[in-house]
Amino acid sequence: MLCVGGNIVSVGTTKGALRDPWLKKHRREITEIDCGGGVVLPGFVDSHTHPVFVAPRLLDFEKRIEGASYEEITAAGGGIRSSLEGVRKATKSVLSARVLAVLHEMAAQGTTTVEAKSGYGLTVESELKSLEAIRDAASRWPGTVVSTLLGAHVVPKEFQGRSQKYVESVCKEMIPSAAKRKLARFVDVFCDKGAFTGVETEQIFAAAQEHGLRVRAHMGQLSETRLSPFLRFDPASFDHMDHVSDDDILELARRDTVATLVPGANYFLGLKKYPDARRLIDAGVPVALATDYNPGTSPTVSMPMAMSLACTHMKMSPAEAMAAATFNGAWALRVADRKGSIEPGKDADLAVFAVKDYREIPYWFGANHCAVTILNGTVSAYG
Ligand SMILES: [Zn+2]
Repeated sequence: MLCVGGNIVSVGTTKGALRDPWLKKHRREITEIDCGGGVVLPGFVDSHTHPVFVAPRLLDFEKRIEGASYEEITAAGGGIRSSLEGVRKATKSVLSARVLAVLHEMAAQGTTTVEAKSGYGLTVESELKSLEAIRDAASRWPGTVVSTLLGAHVVPKEFQGRSQKYVESVCKEMIPSAAKRKLARFVDVFCDKGAFTGVETEQIFAAAQEHGLRVRAHMGQLSETRLSPFLRFDPASFDHMDHVSDDDILELARRDTVATLVPGANYFLGLKKYPDARRLIDAGVPVALATDYNPGTSPTVSMPMAMSLACTHMKMSPAEAMAAATFNGAWALRVADRKGSIEPGKDADLAVFAVKDYREIPYWFGANHCAVTILNGTVSAYG
């Protein structure tokens, strides 16, 4: 594989590459990486993460072990709202340093493109600060970051009982500012019981569309929501999808909205049920896999772990898991023209694994066999 200037130029046998006239002339300037019989994959595209927070949620972790449910933990002052104070108080540089550290951790496991959401500030100021922190970290990381405004994560306490007022602030302040300052490419909404209703989600999507931002949503994690009212906004992805009807699956199969499954959350919450990937894939819905990296329900940076859970708990084949973690993730972020596969013309985003067979990546769960990651042509060795 020959990469020049951050792009893949040609792919083929060594013999073929050595015949390339450009290569003959520039042989000396070339950095050669001998992958030693390992597996080279397109870098993982982690299309759903929440990296802007300050502290882990260890109290939630213990409470859940003692048997408290997601809703009970939220009612007891834990959950998403308990991450707000830290983010509101933190400076942008503290947040940005944390995001950058996580991006490096992700790259060490083979991830080269990351979708990063705000959503733990939930004031105009702290959501914009979170997006600025993402932009700042992204500028210091060789990989690619796609940022998403998740001002509609939950209704913050000061707006309790007045969710419409909060939605107004998302639509009239956060979205226009984020769009104007080009701080986000997507707007996300957590549409579920205890978060935002379908009608509120439509309002937020309409505001996003009006300001030229694309939309995606957390959908069907705790309860089922009818998807058809949202399809006119052409969402790039519906994420979680634990609860979805057959009718909606048929509808999705006719479109290019991706179902992004995040089994790390099901694992960490100790749920017996996982999203029904087979039902989606067999119906023809494109399925992506992501870590859902976040402090409450999925504190993992590992795409190989997400793939392993997809194989063991969702009955996806290793090949399906690999496509879901690369190409379909790129599609879910609408960057599939540049990311997600090893093809001439695409960005040089690669991950080299010290294994003989790609199926070993989900097989050796909990281990990291990524030896080298190449991010937009920049080589990082980890193994
Ligand atoms: Zn999420």
